[in-house]
Amino acid sequence: MPAGWTQSTDVIVVGSGVAGLTAAMHARRAGYRVVIVTKSTVDQGSTKWAQGGIAAALDPEDSPAEHLHDTLVAGAGLCDRGAVDVLVTQGPESVRRLIALGAEFDRDDSGAIALTREGGHLRDRIAHAGGDATGAEISRALVDAVSLDSGIEVIEHALVIDLLLDTDGSAQGVTLHVMGEGERGGVGAILAPAVVLATGGIGQVFSQSTNPRVATGDGVAAALRAGAEVADLEFVQFHPTVMWCGPDSVGQQPLVSEAVRGEGATLVDSTGVRFMVGQHPLAELAPRDVVAKAIMRRMRETGEPHMWLDARSIGDQWPTRFPTIFESCLDHGVDPRSALIPVAPAQHYHSGGIRTDLDGRTSVPGLFACGECACTGVHGANRLASNSLLEGLVFAERIGAILADGLPERAEAVGVRPGPSGLLAAQSRAPMQAAMTDGVGVLRSAESVARAIAILAELGQHVDDDPCTETWENSNLHAVATVLAANAQARLETRGSHWRDDYPDRDDVNWQVRLSTRLGPNGELITERLRVEAQEGI
Ligand SMILES: Cc1cc2nc3c(=O)[nH]c(=O)nc-3n(C[C@H](O)[C@H](O)[C@H](O)COP(=O)(O)OP(=O)(O)OC[C@H]3O[C@@H](n4cnc5c(N)ncnc54)[C@H](O)[C@@H]3O)c2cc1C
Repeated sequence: MPAGWTQSTDVIVVGSGVAGLTAAMHARRAGYRVVIVTKSTVDQGSTKWAQGGIAAALDPEDSPAEHLHDTLVAGAGLCDRGAVDVLVTQGPESVRRLIALGAEFDRDDSGAIALTREGGHLRDRIAHAGGDATGAEISRALVDAVSLDSGIEVIEHALVIDLLLDTDGSAQGVTLHVMGEGERGGVGAILAPAVVLATGGIGQVFSQSTNPRVATGDGVAAALRAGAEVADLEFVQFHPTVMWCGPDSVGQQPLVSEAVRGEGATLVDSTGVRFMVGQHPLAELAPRDVVAKAIMRRMRETGEPHMWLDARSIGDQWPTRFPTIFESCLDHGVDPRSALIPVAPAQHYHSGGIRTDLDGRTSVPGLFACGECACTGVHGANRLASNSLLEGLVFAERIGAILADGLPERAEAVGVRPGPSGLLAAQSRAPMQAAMTDGVGVLRSAESVARAIAILAELGQHVDDDPCTETWENSNLHAVATVLAANAQARLETRGSHWRDDYPDRDDVNWQVRLSTRLGPNGELITERLRVEAQEGI
């Protein structure tokens, strides 16, 4: 689609969550003109929904080495050790810089940052704000800082569609669709020799997710179309205790943090049986994937659409200990002080994404990625709780530092890489989400994944010539779902968040590898197996 208007800048940042805002601020500090493009308002994205906190070795008793160990264990042998090293070593300083910027974290009686523990961490290292409103506070502080800087322009309600490339295939800008009225309405182009993708998660690939509606994998799909490599797409974390809001409820669903189970809540079926007892030594506090799978199995055995979380023991502490979750329960007609909360697993986090090096560079020159849409390799096969906000912060800062050494070369943008013609029809979204939830969800098998792949192929035939937010997003969801399902079909083992019913064991002989995929000239998937060095004891 031809661009109706063009603008030029030094650095374009796509997305305004923790990763995008941090990258923008650091690029600005290096003296560049920065444009942030964001699909909705500047404060929308997963960041503001984050409840638990941000992990960093801030306690004098703790150390980056221990944080590294816990992260590698969660990643089940597939983490990039160098990336984890960067995360845990730079992490504490990055959090302190966030505090210096104005983010207010909860403090203990001595005035030190209060630290709590989450599943998989062997130390108290989760800093939190407003009890269970950490992401909202981080977002507030970053949005305030960015809005005070006149060198950063924010374009809201603007959907980035594709990357503009030069004759060498380097990124030189983006095409975007500004929704609404104004001098920049419709499809335009912004030119810059550095483009940072920070578009967040892929939650809307599935019928139910904790992610907001903007999480449609746009950055991953645009990067794929531009020829970039994506990795680890099969590793999707499903949160076990997401409030079940009825059989027809799709899209973003309310999360009930595992901290609620940490405070004594138990999982029961409709007959009151605590089915986690005997399944794992930690029962309800077993790792997230273990609990999610146990809930799914119990749902299948009983034919019930959800299980129940009994958190009545928290009693009068509810409004102060978990204010956000308490309000959300009340909004859905459940008073958790006296009633059980209906829960079922839902998509929560994507460990895979656009493959980057330790400084956020992708395989396309001039194109950088950070935050949930990126795959630095820190999460391996499963993300350790509260490492994602930290990853967004640390690696966005590193992109700023690399850009401070000089911008990539500016050249003429000649257009977008030719891709599949036609956009996916608006009515394809619900069947696509249902196919992915059924076939490539918490529990996978050769048969279930093949079923989803067949439906995706069929839906790919229903193209629509009406370019609008919904059809662009649907095409992006379809592109991400296609690679995700192909990788899930290829990986013949169970590891981390990838659970194959037909291959129930981890297979280090054949599968100590990461899958890295790019699109060939005819849109075909080209997948490479990247061997990961064995990590002692992991
Ligand atoms: C309910 C919930 C609870 C969580 N709890 C925690 C927690 O306690 N600790 C933790 O570490 N992590 C947590 N996470 C995960 C964490 O919040 C996210 O991984 C992280 O915030 C992602 O940050 P980001 O900057 O990469 O993306 P986001 O914050 O999602 O921002 C993405 C941005 O990109 C924009 N965008 C997307 N597509 C386009 C496009 N085409 N054009 C223009 N703009 C676009 C969006 O509008 C948005 O501004 C939680 C997530 C959820 C959903």
